[in-house]
Amino acid sequence: MDKILVIDDSPVQSGFLCSILKDDYETVSRHTAEEGLQAAKEGGFSLILLDVVMPGMDGFQLLEELKATEVTRYVPVILITSLADVQYEERGLLLGAVDYVTKPFNPVIIKARVNTHIQLYRYQVQFREQAMVDGLTGIANRRRYEAESIARWQEATRFQLPFSLCMFDIDKFKVYNDTFGHPAGDKVIAAVAKTVMAHFQRSTDVFARYGGEEFVAVFLGSQAESAFEFMKTIRQAVEDLHMEHNPQVGPWVTVSAGGVTLVPKPGDKLETYLKLADTMLYDAKRFGRNMVVWSSQTGEQWREK
Ligand SMILES: [Mg+2]
Repeated sequence: MDKILVIDDSPVQSGFLCSILKDDYETVSRHTAEEGLQAAKEGGFSLILLDVVMPGMDGFQLLEELKATEVTRYVPVILITSLADVQYEERGLLLGAVDYVTKPFNPVIIKARVNTHIQLYRYQVQFREQAMVDGLTGIANRRRYEAESIARWQEATRFQLPFSLCMFDIDKFKVYNDTFGHPAGDKVIAAVAKTVMAHFQRSTDVFARYGGEEFVAVFLGSQAESAFEFMKTIRQAVEDLHMEHNPQVGPWVTVSAGGVTLVPKPGDKLETYLKLADTMLYDAKRFGRNMVVWSSQTGEQWREK
């Protein structure tokens, strides 16, 4: 059941709104803008009904806050105005409210407007999710990697956790495509993604298709050596699929991986370490492919074989 947050300083008004909506939605009410903002930030709401005139922070200020906050930015806000506030509607809509309802309430109109915006919100959520998913493999795409890796990086910085970043790709993939054709190549990319994905199941793991036959992974909490061992297991799992490659390359499709584990310090930049992971990947190719090469923060290096 979708959740609706009602923010109105009048308990009578908010109680009435909740009673109108309670058959179809779960409702939560707050009676100041500050409490409303706090509840909204906890997330999970599909719609916010917001009174304009409130003591302290008013509805407009709160609306601006909601639109400036990542977790609440996309949640539709319907303003509650009295007929006397009619001149406020323009301002509210310009600030990003999707609609308004006027007091005294007409239950049928309120329900209809709420239903419409909840429906639109569901489509929007679905659309944003699809825009973050790679069509071929069903895993995260590069855009999602970029959003989520930054979030993980901030978490690692804040809690001083080891942050591991890994770049990897399918060995001699161009030869594979030239030998077996692009449709077969697509199947290989999808099979590799599926096999690797099985190893990245924690909610903080990020595993994405970076582009072409390239993948990127981020995971928290492992020391460099165990991150290296973990990626070796994954590299082996791909080899064990026994997908035939061009015999001049080798019997099976394999991947090479390069990575780094570090605890981010203030001033450190994620891009610097992405470049380092890429250099490790380059080394893995240079040292013979089907291999993991890993670096610690201090430059200590692990290499297979
Ligand atoms: Mg009020």
